[in-house]
Amino acid sequence: MSYAISPPPVTSLPIIGSDQRFPLRRIFCIGRNYAEHAREMGAAVDKDTPLFFTKPADAVVTDGADVIYPQATNDLHHEVEMVVALGAGGRDLTAQQAGELIWGYGVGLDLTRRDLQAVAKAKSHPWDVAKGFDHSAPVSALRPASQVRLDADTALTLTVNGQERQHGRLGDMVHSVNEIIALLSALFELKAGDLIFTGTPAGVSAMQRGDRFHAELAGVATLEGKVV
Ligand code: MN
Repeated sequence: MSYAISPPPVTSLPIIGSDQRFPLRRIFCIGRNYAEHAREMGAAVDKDTPLFFTKPADAVVTDGADVIYPQATNDLHHEVEMVVALGAGGRDLTAQQAGELIWGYGVGLDLTRRDLQAVAKAKSHPWDVAKGFDHSAPVSALRPASQVRLDADTALTLTVNGQERQHGRLGDMVHSVNEIIALLSALFELKAGDLIFTGTPAGVSAMQRGDRFHAELAGVATLEGKVV
C-alpha cells in the first residue's frame, strides 16, 4: 500500500523529564467552565448543556515556538487553560472511570478570533473559524499524571509582557476534569492521544504582535512564547 500524497506528520508534545513525546489525536475544548468568565462574555453557565468545540491537532504550537498572529482578525484573545492528555479511551464513562484515562497535564492557550466569534454568535453559526484556526493552540510540555497533585487552590495564571491578565483556581471550574471527560465520552468515543482544554477563568483580552506571554499551572507546567 502506498499513499497518493505524503501522509501528514504526527503532531506531538514534549514530556517533562523524558525524551519521549506525546502524540496527539484530537483536541476537545469546553466553553463557559468558569462562571466569572461566562459573565464577562455576557453569557450564563448552563450546567446541563455543556458547550464543547474542537480544534485540529495540528493547530498546536509546541516547544515555546512563536505564535503567528492569525489572518482574518483584528481581535486575537488569550484564554489560559489547564490541558489534560488522555492515555486511553472509552465511551459512556462514569466520572470515576474517566479519571483513569488521564495520562498527564499541561497548560495552554485557547486562542480565539473574538471578532469572528461575535459574528458566529450573532448569526448562530458554528465556532470553527473563531476557534480552530492555524496556530490556535499553544501548549506546554506535559507532566505525567503520576507526578501531579492538583487541588481546589491550584492556580492557573497568565501574564502578558509581565502584567497579570488572568488568574484562576481549579476549584472554580463548573465541571471538574473527570466530569468533562465523562460528558465528552457520552458524545464521542475518546481515544488515547486526545487532548482536552478545560476552560478559562475571567480576564480574557487581546494580544498584539510582539507580546510575550507566560502561562502557568502552578507546580505542573509553564508555557512561554511570543506573538509574531
Ligand atoms: Mn476556552
